[in-house]
Amino acid sequence: MNPTPLAAAPNPAPRAGPIRRILELPDELVSQIAAGEVVERPASVVRELVDNALDAGATQITLRLMAGGVRSIVVEDDGCGIEPQDLPLALKRHATSKIASLADLESVTTMGFRGEALAAVASVSDLSLTSRTAGAAHAWRLHARTGELQAAARAQGSTVEVDELFFSTPARRKFLKTDATELAHALDAVRRHALARPEVGFAVWHEGRLVAQWRAGSELARLADVLGADFMAASRPLQAERGPLALHGRAGQPEVARARADMQYVFVNGRFVRDRLISHAVRSAYEDQLHGARQPAYVLFLRIAPELVDVNVHPTKIEVRFRDGRAVHQAVRFAVEDALAATRATLGSTRDTHSAAADAAIAAVAAAPTAALPRAWQASLALPEAPPSVRESAPPWPASDPPRRTPQGSGGLAAWAGLLGGAATSADTAAWPLGRAVAQIGGVYVLAENQQGLVVVDMHAAHERIVYERLKRAAQAGGERPLPAQPLLIPISFAATAAEVATAEAEADTLHALGLDVSLLSATTLVVRSRPAALPDADLAELTRSVLAELGSVEAGGASRLVQRARDDILATMACHGAVRANRRLTLEEMNALLREMETTERADTCNHGRPTWRQVTMKELDALFLRGR
Ligand code: ADP
Ligand code: MG
Repeated sequence: MNPTPLAAAPNPAPRAGPIRRILELPDELVSQIAAGEVVERPASVVRELVDNALDAGATQITLRLMAGGVRSIVVEDDGCGIEPQDLPLALKRHATSKIASLADLESVTTMGFRGEALAAVASVSDLSLTSRTAGAAHAWRLHARTGELQAAARAQGSTVEVDELFFSTPARRKFLKTDATELAHALDAVRRHALARPEVGFAVWHEGRLVAQWRAGSELARLADVLGADFMAASRPLQAERGPLALHGRAGQPEVARARADMQYVFVNGRFVRDRLISHAVRSAYEDQLHGARQPAYVLFLRIAPELVDVNVHPTKIEVRFRDGRAVHQAVRFAVEDALAATRATLGSTRDTHSAAADAAIAAVAAAPTAALPRAWQASLALPEAPPSVRESAPPWPASDPPRRTPQGSGGLAAWAGLLGGAATSADTAAWPLGRAVAQIGGVYVLAENQQGLVVVDMHAAHERIVYERLKRAAQAGGERPLPAQPLLIPISFAATAAEVATAEAEADTLHALGLDVSLLSATTLVVRSRPAALPDADLAELTRSVLAELGSVEAGGASRLVQRARDDILATMACHGAVRANRRLTLEEMNALLREMETTERADTCNHGRPTWRQVTMKELDALFLRGR
């Protein structure tokens, strides 16, 4: 091939040269090419070596890095070790002790099985392998480059030392970031292993300093160790089982959502994976609770029969393929939804992540992952004509204690307030997670006292969520039937735009289904003859206008998912109109009614737009404000 003069063509397009002979590539070059896929940076080496240590049954794994792992990575384990005659095989491409047949591949339970990691790493570094099996008199050390095998000293287990990564491939080395960044990536890799294997101890040293240590212990302790107390206090346990699929983990509440997707851990059969199907399922569970681009924080462990998941779709096995993706999607989504549905108030935990109450809540949750409402709270919530959420969990009325009064219609804070009758005593305060209302300030916030201290509630946001959940439940319970409606004694008419009139005509059935009976009075006037029973206080003209606007923007003929979404959006709009407005003065009874409804409403911790509805200010925090020691 003639060299192309640089001056003539600064960016020469690839040209077909004269035909060359086909040659088999030397083994070393094949490994170096393969290494391109498997070994991107020190963290990839760390992951492969820890995988191997875990496959060898290690109970303690120690890593020692120099210069972010670029200069040196040493991984020591106390696993089964390798027989000296097998040491050269361990470094050979496509040599593995983990599978022997295609059938084995389909039921593989080890982290590795491709038999190429050590060969790949050895081809782009200076690698040595030292190992001792249970019965051996001493260890043996094999130096990959020279092939030299010599006696060595160490206890049972293996040490893999990887020096000068990419020294032979400077192009790769140039892509590496600073030592600090590479170390951070390497720590990330160990953190994932640590989450998946709490029964194994991990220690990471950098430049002779211990930078991370996770001792062997329970899964709960390991999660707290790795993810931190804040995440534990503000996350909910989840658990589900569906046929061959079992799922558990924790879902962070919206308040610990993050700007980046850096706290999302998904493990399939103990292997960390990135899976769009699963992240989509989680995301949809957070749908009406997360603001904009906020990223949920969660950790999910899936167990699934190995034959139902293909782990051999990506060289680094970070992606998997499920045989029944739909089932996995649903299981994940429902499990996360369930976890998020129970309110934090119901569990009695607080914003004070270090408080004993939070710890107790976590412990209680850990002990009973599907914890129902504590009995005492159930009893205090047993009310006549309770909204569905209360009815589901409250015990039936004791015969000796009949309802005092039946409220007219359903919903409406005022109706509820009459029943609760300001009967809050100190005993009630103890039983009520959100406490007893004491005041309203700024026309916006309700203040209450509970056992932890002060509770501040954004009354509109909280009520909006309550009304929204009530509407959603009514819509779900009704199926195809319309939402319960209340005919108006005096119909309400209002001036409407041409677009509103057109939508009202085209969507008359939908409006009817929402409890709104809207018809045309003149070319520019609409009349409303019924209101949704769940929204006794809403301004009907405003409500109808908003719903028409929402309906006008819905694309016709979408998938059922879209319809469901559109319906939820409409219900959210309606909830906003049905919720108490700022500056409305509430009586103490009404405030208490609001708190009690919050305690039994799903997702009551955040409003429909993902903002918090209430905050706890603990006595400790109040004391700190006043420099008061206790
Ligand atoms: P794979 O893990 O896919 O089998 P590797 O190249 O990572 O391929 O390792 C090759 C083989 O070397 C493994 O199958 C295993 O038998 C052996 N091996 C590697 N690391 C260890 C270790 N830390 N302890 C015991 N055996 C090991
Ligand atoms: Mg391996």
